[in-house]
Amino acid sequence: MHSRPPGLPTLGSTPNVDRLDRPLRDLRISVTDRCNFRCVYCMPREVFGPGFEFLPRDELLTFEEIRRLAGLFVELGVEKIRLTGGEPLLRRELETLVSLLASLPSLQDLTMTTNASLLTSERARSLKEAGLQRVTVSLDALDDATFRRMSDVGIPVTRVLEGLDAAVEAGLTPVKVNMVVKRGENENQILPMADHFRGTGKILRFIEFMDVGTSNGWKMDDVVPAREILDRLNRRWPLEPVDSQYPGEVASRYRYRDGGGEVGIISSVTRPFCATCTRARLTADGELYTCLFGARGHDLRGPVRQGTSDAELKDLIRGLWSRRTDRYSELRSEATAHLPRVEMSRIGG
Ligand code: SAM
Ligand code: SF4
Ligand code: SF4
Repeated sequence: MHSRPPGLPTLGSTPNVDRLDRPLRDLRISVTDRCNFRCVYCMPREVFGPGFEFLPRDELLTFEEIRRLAGLFVELGVEKIRLTGGEPLLRRELETLVSLLASLPSLQDLTMTTNASLLTSERARSLKEAGLQRVTVSLDALDDATFRRMSDVGIPVTRVLEGLDAAVEAGLTPVKVNMVVKRGENENQILPMADHFRGTGKILRFIEFMDVGTSNGWKMDDVVPAREILDRLNRRWPLEPVDSQYPGEVASRYRYRDGGGEVGIISSVTRPFCATCTRARLTADGELYTCLFGARGHDLRGPVRQGTSDAELKDLIRGLWSRRTDRYSELRSEATAHLPRVEMSRIGG
């Protein structure tokens, strides 16, 4: 039996909890299933090639529909919203959506995960002005050849580094940097990345390569375990653990003992954190997933377009969350690796 994580803020009303007593606190909204990268671990070119059919425009939730649903999620306990994709900066006029969401009462955190290749200084400033608070930038290598091999689109790594700087200049801080570590592809970048970001205020987080979707050819052998990443870092720059800031925090946090700042490790494969998972995910076409590894979502766009009232929609979402039993990462095995599930680019990270 899972117990409720300690220290959760009380809202005055009973929080909406699932079958494992986990409250609904975070909403990740995918605003597009398209991307200008073809990262080998997410949208491999062999699968997401020229013939791949992305969602047609009229199937995407409109900004007003997203705003309405997000508002209901906030009323049900969501405190943090993250925009994601695909690549969220490909969605036209994203600033309009950001300002609609920023006006939601009692929302505490509005962030975005991006590959930053389209994050010009102007774009970063307009997103900040619209109300975006922070960004997380995905970057898997500093070495240009390794970066290009992993993102597989011929964009130089300097473009992402410029995007990172633009985010900092615009005040979308603290910026976090996500590095997916894949055995044999970029593990030699662990120390150079740590060295580059130490002391900069940008928080590097190493992510174990996950078996999301069914197209990235995941094998356990390709995972560089968190323990190994930590050992490598600790040998070079001794580390000490930092207490988590809030229940349900995804990354385990460490600080360099020499004052070089912090790093995080997201170990969803070798040290799963399902027991404190408070995240719901909304796809660009309005399907609600209660787990990153879900086989199918629950359609919310249909009810929204059929004139369902706010109260009925809230009952629907509350009901779906209350029946949630997901804990895929705790149950992962060779057998589960081949079960059908949604692609990362559709559901967002
Ligand atoms: N395109 C944006 C980006 O890359 O930042 C947002 C969407 S992307 C799906 C969100 C996050 O998922 C990224 O940080 C990415 O590195 C991570 N991701 C994608 N596939 C993954 C995998 N197989 N294992 C671990 N993380 C993965
Ligand atoms: Fe695109 Fe992000 Fe997936 Fe890379 S990880 S292919 S940037 S959606
Ligand atoms: Fe949450 Fe599912 Fe990931 Fe577990 S496997 S942490 S339930 S998204």
